[in-house]
Amino acid sequence: MRYVSTRGGVAQTPLADALAAGLASDGGLFVPARLPRWTGGDAPPETLAGTGLRLLAPFFEGDILADALPAICAEAFAIPLPLVPLHGEGDFVLELFHGPTAAFKDFGARFLAGCLQRLPRADGREVTILVATSGDTGAAVAGAFHRRPGFRVLILYPDGRVSPRQAHGLEAWGDNVEALRVAGSFDDCQRMVKAALGDAALRARHPLAAANSISLGRWLPQAVYYADAALRHRAASGRTLNLVIPTGNLGNAMAALLARAMGMPIGEVVLASTANRALPDFLAGADYAPQPTVATLANAMDVGAPSNIERLRWLEPDDAALRADLRAQAVADDAIRATIGAAASRHGIVPCPHTACALHVLERLRADGATGDWAAVATAHPAKFEGTVEPLVGHAVEVPDALAHLLARPARARRIEATDAALHGVLDLAGATP
Ligand SMILES: *Cc1c(COP(=O)(O)O)cnc(C)c1O
Repeated sequence: MRYVSTRGGVAQTPLADALAAGLASDGGLFVPARLPRWTGGDAPPETLAGTGLRLLAPFFEGDILADALPAICAEAFAIPLPLVPLHGEGDFVLELFHGPTAAFKDFGARFLAGCLQRLPRADGREVTILVATSGDTGAAVAGAFHRRPGFRVLILYPDGRVSPRQAHGLEAWGDNVEALRVAGSFDDCQRMVKAALGDAALRARHPLAAANSISLGRWLPQAVYYADAALRHRAASGRTLNLVIPTGNLGNAMAALLARAMGMPIGEVVLASTANRALPDFLAGADYAPQPTVATLANAMDVGAPSNIERLRWLEPDDAALRADLRAQAVADDAIRATIGAAASRHGIVPCPHTACALHVLERLRADGATGDWAAVATAHPAKFEGTVEPLVGHAVEVPDALAHLLARPARARRIEATDAALHGVLDLAGATP
């Protein structure tokens, strides 16, 4: 399999090169040159890793990483994936938060790390992974690369704008992971990472790599949990699974659409957005326009210009066909609050604010007469957002073991100015230590 850019400006690229590059050189996102079909039949493979191997093998065909795929899958997909029935007939929640940092990004980050570790390296020098984060991404990437030989991770996040528990989740790793509290905004962090990755002289001194959500190495593996859940659900019930997916940058939902396009028994996919309305407005008929980002309770979904829209239009270039097939609904903060407050009695679960967006959209769909089996996708554990969730449900939320373990470790961070020079200083210092 070869990869092309959504903008059409790069030659067909092997998987290993596309993974190493992250973004295509024309600024587009890598997509497969053709769409493989699922050939595994109706019976689900025995394990999630087995589904991963079967689904992803065509994407690795002919690549230097092909032989490593079984090991990469075994490592990345050793995470439970429960499809939990809710109180309502045919309502489910698909829990993607049983990984080490209690969010769905663990799947993709671990898969990407497994791939990057197995890429051949000419000079054997340590690679520094740079990641700008407002929370979940940084923790998942830190967890995925922690103690992985040959890698150092620098996490940049805005000082004072990440919840205390989220900050601890970024600062408690140690070893080859360093947390940098940046005296600025998330946009400053992103700008610093982009500038460093685009600085040829700096990269000659320090091999650098990104681990952002548009990487193929994070997108492709996310199709696996949807494929696995849908296959298992059909084998158990004979029914197709419809999905409501909390959406920000559209990576997670694009993976469900990829799995469906490959032939998985996934029915309708509905996107749940926050008050950031770029996708709901576009899918309702407006011209696509990036919008300024609005801060909401579901902060990991606060994206004004979802970059994976390029992959959406690659999969379905005709806007009319796309709008006929895909819906998105915006959920305001007061609806998020109300949904969290009522979810225990109404559905039997306590959702995080992101999951609450999906639950709320599912409630609206049922009120409008939707039939069949539907899963609201749970993207993070509610204990990560205790500051929002606990006052609304009126009790403490139990912290999952992996997260409790992380929170029990001492936190350590370095505070830096929001300048390129400050980041260069840290990189040069890091390079000097063995
Ligand atoms: C990242 C994230 C999202 C948004 O996922 P996208 O792939 O950006 O659409 C939703 N919920 C949680 C908890 C997240 O961390």
